[in-house]
This record gives sequence, structure tokens and C-alpha cells, in this order.
Amino acid sequence: MPPLITFAEALELAEISTREEIMALVERAWTVRTERFGDSTDMCSLVNAKAGGCAEDCGFCAQSRYAEADTPMHAMMDPEQILEHAKAAEAAGAHRFCMVTQGQGLSKRDFEKIVEGAKLVAERTNLKRCVSIGHISGDRATRLAEAGVQRVHHNVETARSHYPEVTATVRYEGRIRTIDAVKDAGLETCVGGILNLGETPRQRVEMAFELSEIDPTSVPINLLNPRQGTKFGDRPLMDPWEVVKWVAIFRLILPDALFRLCGGRVENLDELQPLAVKAGLNGVMMGNFLTTLGAEPADDRAMFDELGLNVARQPDNGADPRPDNRSGWLEGSTPSTPMEELIDSRTEAEFWDPSTQLRVVKKNRKPPPYP
Ligand code: SF4
Repeated sequence: MPPLITFAEALELAEISTREEIMALVERAWTVRTERFGDSTDMCSLVNAKAGGCAEDCGFCAQSRYAEADTPMHAMMDPEQILEHAKAAEAAGAHRFCMVTQGQGLSKRDFEKIVEGAKLVAERTNLKRCVSIGHISGDRATRLAEAGVQRVHHNVETARSHYPEVTATVRYEGRIRTIDAVKDAGLETCVGGILNLGETPRQRVEMAFELSEIDPTSVPINLLNPRQGTKFGDRPLMDPWEVVKWVAIFRLILPDALFRLCGGRVENLDELQPLAVKAGLNGVMMGNFLTTLGAEPADDRAMFDELGLNVARQPDNGADPRPDNRSGWLEGSTPSTPMEELIDSRTEAEFWDPSTQLRVVKKNRKPPPYP
């Protein structure tokens, strides 16, 4: 569906600043969200299956070899370990699980581990499966689909006009090629980016309209969580009301996308997280993020619950077409979940935990300057 507002209208909304104006915008976005998706939600969770030592130069990322920050690292996980973290995500009430690796391309050996991990998650949990493994070819996209992966995440990160400020080593065109290969393989796409990388309001609007052209099934938006020693490490956090406003603007430009907030939401939104949900979100990333800690599952579920949204585990996950399975192509049945009760705290299950699982490696030499 095309955007519900024009570029010029989005720029006007970008100017509003009073709480009354933002609340009115939130109500408008809430109507759009509930008209299209009813009370359904699409909650995800991730595992950082391989971290650190990345050759690319993304300015927000502590895993880049160009960052002065110490490198958070761990080797490629085995499929069984991926499954353990998936079970924790399921216990928290996530509907889907994303297997993420650093960098822009996996070795053959590591790719096979992702394929095996995806098969295990498909066989032993009731979670939908996503991967985020950098650039992939058409052949690999097909392999992933055959292994039971349903959606592939690959961000554009920012507006095309701002992109050279964010990375010089990862090409925008390459990102679009990967997204096209994923679509060609019949997989759903998850494409978004990060706000607060120094882009102007106009560039934020540009990014939302560019995403509308790409038309991904899912749009994840991250809010910069500045990491000392990275290119954007000194930027201040966003004002929480600004975040809410931009969530609502994105919802009006992307009315049909499954829209979620991921990294940085806790730090940037604090008490306003529930209002951001009302501004049009379909879900949030539960559990922990790639290199930082997240929120408690009970609190995340409550934010949606209090708005009358249904976060319950769905017995037909991965089977019937529903608003959260927009393309309707997912067929077959998945096992029912082995867990009766959802857990409330991350301490109750084997979550991916960056505070204990990442080995922080000091950089002995000064890293090369960002290109
Ligand atoms: S975002 Fe991904 S590709 Fe970019 S530096 Fe970080 S790990 Fe590497």
C-alpha cells in the first residue's frame, strides 16, 4: 500500500514539537495500525550467533575494525547452542527468532551452521525463523528457504543521501541486490535502519519513502545507542518525544509494514516506550540485543497487553496466513511449544547474553581511520 501521507506532509509533521500535537499524531497512527493489523503482534528475539572482528566500517558498530572501542567477540555458535537461545526466546513469548552474524558474508562452514541451526529451530520450537547474515546470493537464499527460514533481515541503515556518512565499505547497491535475491527466493524481507546517525529530518523522511519503495514485509527501526570509540559514539540520545513522533510518521508512510523497534529503545525512550508502541508498532525485539542488554519479557508483553493487543503465543505460528504473516505463504505445521508458562525475567532462561557471552578484546594498535 502506498504511503498515507505525501513527502511534503511528512516534512510538516517532522516540524511538530508540542506534546499535544504529538499525541494527536499518535492517535492517527494508532488508528492506521489497528485498522490493518487488529490486535495482532509480531514479537521477535535474536541471537548474536557470531560476533566481532568485522572488516566493514559501519560508523555505529563496535564490531567494526575501524572502531576504537574494544571488540566484542565470540566464534560462530554451534546449531545446538542456537537452539538453546531460541528456546529462551520462545519462553519469553517471542513469536519469531532471528539468527544474526557479523559482517557481510559468511564462510561456507559458518553458513552451514546457520542452515542447521534454522532446521533445529524449525523442528523443535514454535518460532518463526529469520536470519541476518549480511550479503547473500540467490543460491544461499534458496538454501535458507529450504531450511525453513521465512524472513531475511538486511538493513539499508539510513537514507540513501546520508549513506556515505555511515559506511564506505558496504555498498548501498549491494544491499538492494541482497534484498532482491531474498525476494526472488520467495522469502519475506525485513529492512530498516537506525535513527540518529546525523541525518536531517528530510533524510529521515527520505529513508521512510525509500523503504516504502522497497516494500519489505517488516521494518525494524533502531535508535542509536552511542558506543564510545565508534564514529557516532559522541552523539546524544534522542529526545523520547521525538522518537515517538518519528515512529508515528514512519507508520503513516509504511502503513502495511510490520513495524518494530529494536536496539536503543530502552535507552532512548525510557518511560515513553508504551507511547511508542501506541504510535504504530507491531512488535519489539525481546530479550537482549546484539551487544547490549534489553528489557524484561514481562514488561515488554505488558506494554502491548495494556493497549489491548494480543501477545499470546499462537498455536499456528508458521502455518496460517494472518496479519503477522502477510504474504500467507508459510505452510505446514510446527510443533506446539513445550513450555506451558511464559517467563517474566531474562534470568529464567538461557537468553543470548552479551554481558557474559561476549569476550571483550582490547585493541593493541590504533585502528585505521574511518574511510
Ligand atoms: S554493522 Fe555488521 S557489517 Fe557493519 S561493521 Fe557491524 S558487524 Fe560489520
